[in-house]
Amino acid sequence: MIIDCHGHYTTSPRQHEAWRQEQIAAHKEGRAAPPRPAISDDEIRASIVGGQLKLQQERGTDVTIFSPRAAGMGHHLGDASTSEAWAAACNELIHRVCALFPRNFIGVCMLPQSAGVSPKNCIAELERCVNEYGFVGCNLNPDPSGGFWQDPPLGDRYWYPLYEKMVELDVPAMIHVSMACNPAFHTTGSHYLNGDTAAFNQCMTSTLFKDFPTLKFIIPHGGGAVPYHWGRFRGLAQDMKLPPLPELLLHNVFFDTCVYHLPGQELLAKVIPAENILFASEMIGAVRGIDPETGYAFDDTKRYVEQLPLSSADKQKIYEDNARRVYPRLPARLAAAG
Ligand SMILES: [Zn+2]
Repeated sequence: MIIDCHGHYTTSPRQHEAWRQEQIAAHKEGRAAPPRPAISDDEIRASIVGGQLKLQQERGTDVTIFSPRAAGMGHHLGDASTSEAWAAACNELIHRVCALFPRNFIGVCMLPQSAGVSPKNCIAELERCVNEYGFVGCNLNPDPSGGFWQDPPLGDRYWYPLYEKMVELDVPAMIHVSMACNPAFHTTGSHYLNGDTAAFNQCMTSTLFKDFPTLKFIIPHGGGAVPYHWGRFRGLAQDMKLPPLPELLLHNVFFDTCVYHLPGQELLAKVIPAENILFASEMIGAVRGIDPETGYAFDDTKRYVEQLPLSSADKQKIYEDNARRVYPRLPARLAAAG
C-alpha cells in the first residue's frame, strides 16, 4: 500500500471559498457572517474525481491523508471566532470527502488558530475532528501571523496545552504554515520552506520532546532546508552541548518526500534515516506543472522514490509502515475502510 501523507483539498467547491471571502468582509464591517452555503455530495464528488482521485490512480498511490487547503487557513485573518467558524467549515468538508471516498482519503484537520490567541482555543475542534470524524492528525501552523513570526516558538510552554491534548488523543501534527501576508515571502516558496526549517530549529533548541516523549511532528516539504544543512544543525547542536540529533529529535520528528526533483530526494534519503521519511506528494498543490527535464509532473514524487538506491524494506517503510506508526490511529481507519 502506498500512503500519501500530505494532500490538501485545493479543489473544493467554489462556494466554499466564496463564503470565506464573505465571512472576512463581514468581519471587517462588523457584521455577522452569512449562513454557510449548501454544497451537495455530487459537487464534492465532482471536485475530487477528476482531480486528486484521478492522480492517485494514474500515479499508483492508494490513500491520501487529506486536509484543508493550507494557504487558505489564513490564521492572520479575522479573529478567534472567524477562525473557529472557518476551521469548522473546512474540516466538515474534509470529513465529507473521506465519507464519500473512504478507501482513498483519511482526514486531518486544520486548527482554529489565530495570531496572538492561545492554542488552547484549538483543543475543542481537534477533539471533535478526532472523536467524531475519525481524523488521524492535525496541521499545526507555527506562525499564525502569516510571515511575521509573532507567536512564541514551538518549544515554548505557550503551545503545551495543545500538545497535551495531541498526546492524549495520540495524533501527530504536520507543521504547516499558511498564506504569507508579508510581501517579503512567497507563500509556497520561501514562506513554506522557512516555516519547515524554523520549526525544526525551534524543536532542536527546546526541551519539547523531553517533556512530551511521544509527541510526533511531520515536517513537510522534505524538511525545508534541514536535510541539506544537516551538518550545520549537527554542529550547532554540538556547540550548544545538546545530544546528537538522532537522539534529540528523530524519535519525534519525521520528514515527508515533497521534494520535487530526484537529486533533492536522493539527498533526503542519504541524510535522514528511512524510519523518519514518509511518502508524500502534496498534490494537487503548490507546483502543478510538468518538469521539461523529465516530462513528468514535478509533484509526481513516487517516480523519484522509486529511483532511490534503497532496499525494498526501506521503501516499504517510506511508502506505508512509517505512516502507520506516526499516525497511530491510521491502521484502524484503513482496516475499517477495507
Ligand atoms: Zn501542504
